[in-house]
Amino acid sequence: MTEQNEKFDIAVIGSGPAGFTAAIYAVRGGASTALFGGMAPGGQLLLTTEIENYPGFVDPVVGADLMQRMMKQSSRLGVKVFQESVTAADLAQRPFKLTSSNGKIYEARAVILATGAQARWLGMPSEQKYSGKGVSGCATCDGFFFRGKEVAVIGGGDTAAEDALFLTKFATKVFLVHRRDNLRASFRLQEKLKANPKVELVYDHVPQEFLGEAKLTGVDIKHVKTGEVRRLNVTGAFIAIGHTPATQLVKGKLNLDAEGYIITDEHTATSVPGVYAAGDVADTRYKQAVVAAGTGCKAALEALAFIEGCSK
Ligand code: NAP
Repeated sequence: MTEQNEKFDIAVIGSGPAGFTAAIYAVRGGASTALFGGMAPGGQLLLTTEIENYPGFVDPVVGADLMQRMMKQSSRLGVKVFQESVTAADLAQRPFKLTSSNGKIYEARAVILATGAQARWLGMPSEQKYSGKGVSGCATCDGFFFRGKEVAVIGGGDTAAEDALFLTKFATKVFLVHRRDNLRASFRLQEKLKANPKVELVYDHVPQEFLGEAKLTGVDIKHVKTGEVRRLNVTGAFIAIGHTPATQLVKGKLNLDAEGYIITDEHTATSVPGVYAAGDVADTRYKQAVVAAGTGCKAALEALAFIEGCSK
C-alpha cells in the first residue's frame, strides 16, 4: 500500500516574519496549515543582533528570540511546523503538490511563498569574520549602534545611498565606497548625498580587507584603476550590494521580475490562482520585518478566501 500524501488547506513556505504571520492567520482562519521552515526556521532575522524597531518590544529583542516566539505562537495555535525545506513545487496541479527535503509529498489547496531574499555579501573571509562585529547587511537594523562613530557603506545603488543617508543620523562620518565612478542610485538620492557634509563619496574603490581584533576597526579599500590602497578607520561597514530573492523553487512557474522577485498584485496574488507571495521574496523596496509580517497577513486572508471559493 502506498503512503498517502499529507494534505493541508494552506501550505506556507518560509519561516521569517512573513511566513509565520501568514501561518498564524491561516490557522486562526480555520485552515489546516503547514509551514515549511527549513532546518533552521527563522529567516534573515536569525542573522541580526538586537531589533529595536519591531513594535511591541519595549526592550530590544534578539532576532533569534523573536523568531522563536513566532514559531512557538504558530505551534500553539495548531500550525504544523516542518523543519524541512521544499525542494520542488508542482503548481500546475490541484491540489498543489510540494516535495520536501526528506522526499515526502504534501498537498495543499493554497500556497503562500515567503522564502525571503538574502542580502548579497562580497564573499571575503574578513567580511565574514567581522559579520555582527561591525560588518552588517542592514543599516536600518544596526545603524543606531554607531552613534558618534565613523562608518562605511559599500555599494552604489539606491539601498547604499539610502543607507548612507540614514547612517548620517548617527555617525559622524559616512564613506560611501562604490566600485565605479558613478552611482547607480537615483538622481535625487545622489543630490542628497552630495549635499550632506557627513558623506564622503569614494569612487572606483572596492574593499580589500576588513580589519580589527574582537571588533572591526577599519577597512582597506583598493582603487580599481591604480591599485592604491587607502585605509578607512571605521568601526562599522554596511554591505549594500543588493539582494537575491529565493525564487529558485518557482522559476518558470510564476511570473518573476528581471531581478527574480515574484510579481504580485496589491493583494499578494501571484500569476497562479491560489498561490500568494509575502515578505521579501516579493518586496523590492522595503525589506523590513514588520512589512513582511503585514504582507504575510494579507496573503493568509487571501488564501483563506480562495479556499472558501470567495476570492475577490
Ligand atoms: P542594486 O540596484 O542592484 O545596486 C547594487 C549596487 O551594488 C550597485 O551599485 C552595484 O555596482 C554594487 N555591487 C554589486 N555587486 C558588487 C560587488 N561584488 N562589489 C562591489 N559593489 C557591488 O541593489 P539595491 O541598491 O539593493 O536596489 C535593489 C532594487 O531596489 C533597485 O531596483 C532599487 O531601485 C530598489 N530600491 C529602491 C529604493 C527607493 O526607491 N527608495 C530604495 C532601495 C532600493 P554597479 O552599480 O557597478 O553594478
